[in-house]
Amino acid sequence: MTTIIILIGTELLSGATLDTNSIYMAKELNKVGIKITYKLTVGDKIEDIIEALKFAKDRAQLIILSGGLGPTDDDLTKKALSKFLGRKLIVDAEELEEAKNKFKKLDLEFLDKNLKEIEKPKGAYSIKNDVGIAPAFYVDDIAVFPGVPSELKNMFPKFLDYYIKQSGKEIDPIYIKDFLINGIPESIIEEKVKEFFTYDGIEYEFLLKNNGVLLRLQTTEKNKKIVEKIREKIYNRLGNHIISEDDENILEKLYNLMEKENMTLSVVESCTGGLLSSKIVSIEGISKYYKEGIVTYSNSSKLLRAGVKEESLTRYSAVSSEVAKEMLSNIDTDLGIAITGYASLSAGLDEDMVGVVYIATKVGDKLNCERYKFLGDRDTIREKAVYQSLFNLCRKMEEVFRSEHRRED
Ligand code: AMP
Ligand code: MG
Repeated sequence: MTTIIILIGTELLSGATLDTNSIYMAKELNKVGIKITYKLTVGDKIEDIIEALKFAKDRAQLIILSGGLGPTDDDLTKKALSKFLGRKLIVDAEELEEAKNKFKKLDLEFLDKNLKEIEKPKGAYSIKNDVGIAPAFYVDDIAVFPGVPSELKNMFPKFLDYYIKQSGKEIDPIYIKDFLINGIPESIIEEKVKEFFTYDGIEYEFLLKNNGVLLRLQTTEKNKKIVEKIREKIYNRLGNHIISEDDENILEKLYNLMEKENMTLSVVESCTGGLLSSKIVSIEGISKYYKEGIVTYSNSSKLLRAGVKEESLTRYSAVSSEVAKEMLSNIDTDLGIAITGYASLSAGLDEDMVGVVYIATKVGDKLNCERYKFLGDRDTIREKAVYQSLFNLCRKMEEVFRSEHRRED
């Protein structure tokens, strides 16, 4: 089953509108086991739309179009389709009546050009539009939707229902297993786990995400058991480099760990300037566990607010393991994170030092600090430091809890 999506709209090519429709459609199609092989984007131009249709017709069993169904002269999708299929555009009397009623309810005048919105190629099956005017339709293995995201979302599930029923297709939904990994580069991860990916029908890919690597296994539900076996092998090989799985992101993971152990958290930030705190407070319900976030940007603030010793600043500098750890001196919660580093070049700083960040974590009475060298611009470095600090805290919490629970056993 091959499917090609054609997105139509000059604004999608000029950068004025971000294509979100294909992302939505891909997710919905994946749920019912339909995979997309190509995604094409063309402007509102009849010849270009026809070219895209020709390309797709040679390669796909199902073609899905989105965009260009509006009433204005620049909306040309149906004209192109009519030409391509050799089917006349017609107006269904019932659909016309319905559209006119919608206009009446909105106190709007139905103009001749609005007729265009309900035209469809002769023989097409219509899908009712509950949130707009132009119905979607399906003809000769081609489904056509408006570009307006809310209208697409209203009609796409109805189309899929219809399509699956009429095709008598057995559904084998796509199954995705994600692992978020931190602390080893993707090339090494691949070397470590490559031998597990020998099964036909299971694809894997590496994506960079939040200063970690997302390893994605994609297959269909019928292979779920095999994926479970691979999962075990991956855990044995990568151990605690695996930060989280599937949709659980690092913030959710932190929340779950704090909830489980009933522990409170404070953070002390320098170069990240509150970014870490901001991420933490984006977790719903976090007020139960999060006590405070202090931004000690200057040296004097580190002395005054964080309890860093003057001697440490002069001896080791503000960006050092000693200072990072000392930044947690005044913290009275179970958990703590401190971040200090160089996010960009400043007077007197060696270029090599840009991106050097120290991240200290505290779990109970256990203090730890790691040095990092992040690449990127100022904001990228700050963002990477924040995610790395969250990874570190979660990893340390798991280590500590694991050894404590082992002792209790
Ligand atoms: P149309 O059906 O071409 O008249 O599109 C109507 C509206 O939907 C316009 O505001 C477009 O910018 C928007 N739109 C069209 N295609 C997409 C897409 N692929 N993703 C998100 N929005 C879109
Ligand atoms: Mg358009």
